[in-house]
Amino acid sequence: MKEQVALGRYTTLGTGGPARWFATPETEDELLERLAWADAEGLPVAVVGLGSNLLVADDGFPGLVLKLAGELAAADAADGVLAGGGGAPLAVCLHRARAAELGGFEFACAIPGTVGGGVWMNAGAYGGDIAGVLRRARVADATGARWLTPQELGLRYRTSGLRHGQVVARAEFLLEPRPLEEIKATVAAMQARRKEAQPTNKRTFGSVFKNPDHELSAGRMLEVCGLRGYRSGGAQISPKHANFIENADGARSADAIALIAEARRRAREQFGVVLHPEVQLLGALEVPPLEP
Ligand SMILES: Cc1cc2nc3c(=O)[nH]c(=O)nc-3n(C[C@H](O)[C@H](O)[C@H](O)COP(=O)(O)OP(=O)(O)OC[C@H]3O[C@@H](n4cnc5c(N)ncnc54)[C@H](O)[C@@H]3O)c2cc1C
Repeated sequence: MKEQVALGRYTTLGTGGPARWFATPETEDELLERLAWADAEGLPVAVVGLGSNLLVADDGFPGLVLKLAGELAAADAADGVLAGGGGAPLAVCLHRARAAELGGFEFACAIPGTVGGGVWMNAGAYGGDIAGVLRRARVADATGARWLTPQELGLRYRTSGLRHGQVVARAEFLLEPRPLEEIKATVAAMQARRKEAQPTNKRTFGSVFKNPDHELSAGRMLEVCGLRGYRSGGAQISPKHANFIENADGARSADAIALIAEARRRAREQFGVVLHPEVQLLGALEVPPLEP
C-alpha cells in the first residue's frame, strides 16, 4: 500500500491529483483484505482501470484507490468462455478470444479499457457491448464477493448499477466459435473506421457525452455549435471530433470540466437538449448544473 500516489499517470487524459492511499491487489483474498481495511478506516474506495473514461479531481481522492493486478488482471479463453480479471485490458481479452477462435468480442478492439471498467460502463462499440456477451461478474465489497448476472448488474446504455466500493474482480463472457481470419478482418475494419473518425494520437478520455435521444449525435451537435477546437486552459475540444476533449498542453481536470459545462450550455441553447456526461468523475469534481 502506497500513500499520495499521483493519479494523472493512471488516466488517459493525464490529469488529476493524488490518491490518499493506493494498492494493487493481485488475488481476490488480497482485494477483500484491502476492502475490509478501508471499511474499518471509514475510507471511500474506488478503482482505476486504464483510466480511459475517468476524470480525477485536481485535488485527488481522499480514500483508497485500487488498481487490480496479477491474477486479477489476467485473462483466458477456452470452451466458449472468455474469463478475465477485473483489471485485464480488453485488448488482452480480445487477443485470448482470437487465439481460441472465439468471436463476439471484436467490438472491444475500439475500447482502450479493462474488464472492470467495461462492466461498470457497459462499454460498447459498433453494435456490440459488454451486456451482449457477459455471462456473470464477480463483484467484491467490504462484505465479501459474489457472482452477479447482467440483470443484477443493471447494465444499460453506457451505465450500470455499480457504485464506488463495489469492485469487479472477475467476469465471464460467452462467445461463439469463429475462424481466426474472420475475427482479424472484422477487427481491422473496425480499427480503420475508428482511425478515420476520431483523434487516436491524442490524450483523451473517449466520448465526453452519451448520445442523446435525438437525430444528431452529441459530437455532431457540438460541431454545429462551433465547438471544434474550442479551448479552456490546457484542454481543448478535439478539432477532429467534437465529442472528445484533448489534453492539448498541460491540462487540468478543471479545464475539462469548464469545456463540459460550456458544451452543455451551448447544446441546450441551440438544440434544447441536455447532454449527459459519459465520463466518470472521481473525487471532489462536479459538472455545474445548467442555469434555469
Ligand atoms: C480513444 C478512446 C476511445 C474510446 N472508445 C470507446 C468506445 O468506443 N466505447 C466505449 O464504450 N467506450 C470508449 N472509450 C471509453 C473507455 O475506454 C470505456 O468507458 C472503458 O470501459 C473504461 O474502462 P477503464 O478500465 O479504462 O475504466 P476507467 O476509466 O479506469 O474507469 C471508469 C469507471 O469504471 C470504474 N472501474 C474501473 N475498473 C473497475 C473495477 N474493476 N471494478 C469496479 N469499477 C471499476 C472506475 O471507478 C470508473 O468509475 C474510449 C476511450 C478512449 C480514450
